[in-house]
Amino acid sequence: MKEEMDYLRERLLELLAIDSPTGFTRKAQEYLMKELTALGYAPRETVKGGVLVDLGGPTGREDGLLLSAHIDTLGGMVREITPQGRLKITNVGGLRATSVETENCRVYTRFSGVYSGTLQLMNASVHVNSEVGTAERSYDSCEILLDEPVESKEDVKKLGIRNGDFVCFDTRSQITDSGYIKSRFLDDKLSVAVILALAKELRDKGITPSRRLWAHFTVYEEVGHGGAASIPEGVRDILAVDMGCVGDGLECTERQVSICAKDRIGPYNYDMVTELVQAAEKAGADYVIDLYPHYSSDADVTVTAGHDMRHGLIGPGVYASHGYERSHLDGEENTLQLLAAYVQ
Ligand SMILES: [Zn+2]
Repeated sequence: MKEEMDYLRERLLELLAIDSPTGFTRKAQEYLMKELTALGYAPRETVKGGVLVDLGGPTGREDGLLLSAHIDTLGGMVREITPQGRLKITNVGGLRATSVETENCRVYTRFSGVYSGTLQLMNASVHVNSEVGTAERSYDSCEILLDEPVESKEDVKKLGIRNGDFVCFDTRSQITDSGYIKSRFLDDKLSVAVILALAKELRDKGITPSRRLWAHFTVYEEVGHGGAASIPEGVRDILAVDMGCVGDGLECTERQVSICAKDRIGPYNYDMVTELVQAAEKAGADYVIDLYPHYSSDADVTVTAGHDMRHGLIGPGVYASHGYERSHLDGEENTLQLLAAYVQ
């Protein structure tokens, strides 16, 4: 498992270094196409911008399994250039202004390159504004200061910055000596890295899955339609591999793999949850079963879109989700062990 975990760790850091908010995921797609091809698979791009790959197993049957993980993350988009030459943004997915206040970012223009900046409260100097400590933080009260000498809307437009440009925030990614993984957007790049490591393990050890196995790397999960399309022929089960919730009232820690029994949309397929628990037991993976009160997954989307399929959800525990998130290499390893047992 050490070789897979070394591979996983490297891929995770590379993935986190790629800006990929929903709707702006081309570079992450190219990365996955390259990586899966290097592993000896034949991935293909979906029209929406995702990546679909056949990981092997018997053909001509109707009990195939599709794993899904999303490469899209949270981010921002320019919605207004102010008369003072600042940028007002809207969030892409559920990114809160409080999570990225004072964070550095990159503004990707359509035709004129990339500019850096920082999201700050308006009038952010404490020596000038007595309300810095108490002002409400929102995308109306915060703005991006560009690292360019701009003082007007015209100055900004001359740089080529326009409404609709994507804004990508620094992830501040690090893995501590004690194994904790701290970064923005661990959701869901943790699981993308796990599936890559699974693909490597299958290939290196010559393992043939017990039923046809596919992986779909989706690109619109954070806005709710990632898993709606691209279900291969013969697939019966959809398993979302996404972040496991950690918080008050839940059992999971960042060092475990979480099996979700029910989320905001409703219960997952009962038999599939049971099989996932059995696979975790067989693998000796450290797991919990939890319910996620404010969560829906790409697997929910697949069944909601009208596919007659069984659905499930597992993933490594993530604390402070959609903020500065924290997980652990043990959570990654337990997720990989569960998956490897489930597909064999
Ligand atoms: Zn997610």
